[in-house]
Amino acid sequence: MRVAVIGASGRMGKNLITAINDADGVSLGAAVLKPGSSLIGADAGEIAGIGKLGVAAVASLLDCVNDFDVLIDFTTPTLTLENAAFCAQHQKAIVVGTTGLNDDEKAALNQAALQSAVVFAPNMSVGVNLTLKLLATAAKILGDEYDVEIIEAHHRHKVDSPSGTALRMGEVVAEALGRDLKECAVYGREGQTGARTQKEIGFETIRAGDVVGEHSVWFATEGERIEIAHKASSRMTFAKGAVRAASWLSGKSAGIYDMQDVLNLK
Ligand code: NAP
Repeated sequence: MRVAVIGASGRMGKNLITAINDADGVSLGAAVLKPGSSLIGADAGEIAGIGKLGVAAVASLLDCVNDFDVLIDFTTPTLTLENAAFCAQHQKAIVVGTTGLNDDEKAALNQAALQSAVVFAPNMSVGVNLTLKLLATAAKILGDEYDVEIIEAHHRHKVDSPSGTALRMGEVVAEALGRDLKECAVYGREGQTGARTQKEIGFETIRAGDVVGEHSVWFATEGERIEIAHKASSRMTFAKGAVRAASWLSGKSAGIYDMQDVLNLK
């Protein structure tokens, strides 16, 4: 399977090129950069710091439309939607790791998935996806008596908050407790907020330094607290998961899938 990476010089882009090169059964078909980038024409392997791979970076998906079967996209919501529409039009599968999509943008992605296969997940790591399953189990057993708080930390460059992963954790817990996250989420408390309500799910965000991604979910009641935590120490964990998703998409029909599908956790 030939894989294209868009945003190839980004933090995730470089890890994706490395992960594709390390994986069996997939090869790098194309690397796409922002138009005007000084790296256009450079070897994708050299951009990723792993030596020449013989794939020169291009400035648009049109320039490499015949060179790939699946696109991996970790960029921005606006660009991701353009890319998903392109893939739908050209019958290419797409793996979307971009976070921060609003409800309208998610609806547009679902629309693209009517025509081609899409894997969309705010966190592609195997460990986080297992954690989501553990959270659903914990929430079902603990019920409404335990207060739920979600604390996350990321590097100083991250532009969306709370992280897509924290929000997904909140959705999973809310669903297991029969709540709607939109109605029970409380973000970053400040000032005279009053006492906590029983059914709220709180989110706290830390942005600092080079933290790759840390999430901790508390279930707390009088007398005890359970913490379910995940810490990513390298972006390679997300990149490897995305490459696994790209391989899994081979032969899949149009539709929207997530990492729980890819990892057979449903
Ligand atoms: P980043 O370093 O800023 O990378 C984004 C890349 O997209 C940059 O290289 C940027 O190029 C490029 N880009 C922007 N516009 C473009 C265009 N028109 N054509 C081609 N490329 C374009 O960000 P990152 O840390 O890699 O994160 C990217 C996204 O992935 C974020 O939404 C992040 O939250 C998400 N993420 C998801 C997971 C997951 O597991 N799902 C894990 C980590 C990160 P310039 O630098 O030239 O602007």
